Amino acid sequence: MKTLHDALRTIPDFPKPGIQFKDIAPLLSSPHHFNETIETLKTHHQNDQLDQIAGIESRGFLFAAALAYALGCGTTLIRKPGKLPGTVHQQSYDLEYGSDALEMQTDALQSGQRVLLIDDVLATGGTVSAAHKLIQTHFDVELVGATFLLELTSLNGRSKLADLSVHALIQVD
Ligand code: AMP
Repeated sequence: MKTLHDALRTIPDFPKPGIQFKDIAPLLSSPHHFNETIETLKTHHQNDQLDQIAGIESRGFLFAAALAYALGCGTTLIRKPGKLPGTVHQQSYDLEYGSDALEMQTDALQSGQRVLLIDDVLATGGTVSAAHKLIQTHFDVELVGATFLLELTSLNGRSKLADLSVHALIQVD
């Protein structure tokens, strides 16, 4: 049986030259590997007493929803600008060229809730550190950590999350 790592696929030069894109589609489409992913994350986080799992658009939603169901907690969305209705909080962040932003609805989290951030890949850490800042600035909650399917260790994204507990199921260079 293939390991979780074997169930990932690397696509060179996508979406632009020089990027080794980690395609999680084979893992998601394998019932065995998707189940193993969620069950392993469940075991890791089952004592965190989570109220909400905040998934980062878009592949983070897949893991946020499945893990929230497995743990019996709620899930909430962190989205790119203009996607969420009603009043939102926004946090912008720098990209290699230009900038982007993340948004959450202002009532997405309640005071005192215990919250876990989740995304598929930790690369440079820019996205998740913006999500961290968004939650920290606008919500009076306890952010218990950030969890990922895959960490690209050579990009050292963890260094941007120094004050957060970071976990990844798979680590590659
Ligand atoms: P970063 O902000 O650099 O940590 O990038 C994280 C976000 O970009 C995640 O939401 C990933 O889905 C995506 N991402 C970045 N690099 C890759 C990669 N090499 N393969 C697949 N997804 C990536």
